[in-house]
Amino acid sequence: MLKKGNKLYSILTGSCPRCHEESMYLDKNPYHMGKIFKMHERCSHCNLKYKIEPSFFYGAMYVSYGVGIAFAVAAFVIANLFLGANLIETFIAIIVTLVVFMPIIMRLSRNIWINMFVKYDPKAKANIKNS
Ligand SMILES: [Zn+2]
Repeated sequence: MLKKGNKLYSILTGSCPRCHEESMYLDKNPYHMGKIFKMHERCSHCNLKYKIEPSFFYGAMYVSYGVGIAFAVAAFVIANLFLGANLIETFIAIIVTLVVFMPIIMRLSRNIWINMFVKYDPKAKANIKNS
């Protein structure tokens, strides 16, 4: 399932949404907090400019809301339904999950956001001079 050409590949790996050839981020590890939002200016393979317009990635905040809910629901299901935690324990589990996964949630949101605007194009690599 996770092959180049699938949007999920770009979303989960943070690779360039157009050519899927390289990471958009300077540091692939989102837990290096100082660099969490440091991105390359352009893809060196297809020349795609990641920041499509000024403050483009502010829109990712809307996505992170949804992604955060998804993580919270997952934490709820695991803690409450599978582990039988009570309401307070479940609540704590949700908070801890959101805090621990925050860097991943923020990265995922950016990846989803840019993938909503940029389509995979296997030929983009060859067209580098035209873009
Ligand atoms: Zn690219």
